[in-house]
Amino acid sequence: MINIVLFGPPGAGKGTQAENLKEKYDLKHISTGDMFRHHIQNQTELGKLAKSYMDKGELVPDEVTIKMLKAKVEEHLDSKGFIFDGFPRTKAQAESLSELMQSKGSQIDAMIALEVPDEVLVERLLERGKTSGRKDDSNEEVIRNRIKVYYEETEVLKEFYKKEDKYYGVNGVGSISEITDRISKVIDSL
Ligand code: AMP
Repeated sequence: MINIVLFGPPGAGKGTQAENLKEKYDLKHISTGDMFRHHIQNQTELGKLAKSYMDKGELVPDEVTIKMLKAKVEEHLDSKGFIFDGFPRTKAQAESLSELMQSKGSQIDAMIALEVPDEVLVERLLERGKTSGRKDDSNEEVIRNRIKVYYEETEVLKEFYKKEDKYYGVNGVGSISEITDRISKVIDSL
């Protein structure tokens, strides 16, 4: 198995890159944001709960997020590996993910972090908000809060993976295919 955490602030291009990489390497793409949006669309209880956080640009509580993620991994254990997109976002999530992979006789092989300046992120998200139908992309205040939450709660995870010698930073500015090539170089070197 090859398991990648695709990391970076909101708007860094994780989802776009994950779509390319899952085809190229035949990996299962798991996006917790997409899973929550699916629940919201289906008006489930979890969807209602998640929406109350997502609309403000806050994180959904760890307990529910971790439980949902674990169930998804269990469903796809026959895959060649995973691309985790938008998970982990907190230390508790990173620890649970390590334990989960370990319990499956596997591990996270790399955290690949897309590096993009803040002002480019805001621009990209506002642009995406015009067509994505995502409420959290169309309000600049919510966008700035998501970026703030990333720096306050999520960015520390770089240290978590650096300690394990699994951290790889990649320039996230350029064309989609250029960035896919940069990430591929890292994956091919693992
Ligand atoms: P994303 O699609 O990754 O930008 O996520 C959209 C929103 O979903 C985030 O702003 C959070 O409110 C929520 N979310 C997604 N993944 C997580 C996670 N791992 N932990 C907590 N909240 C999350």
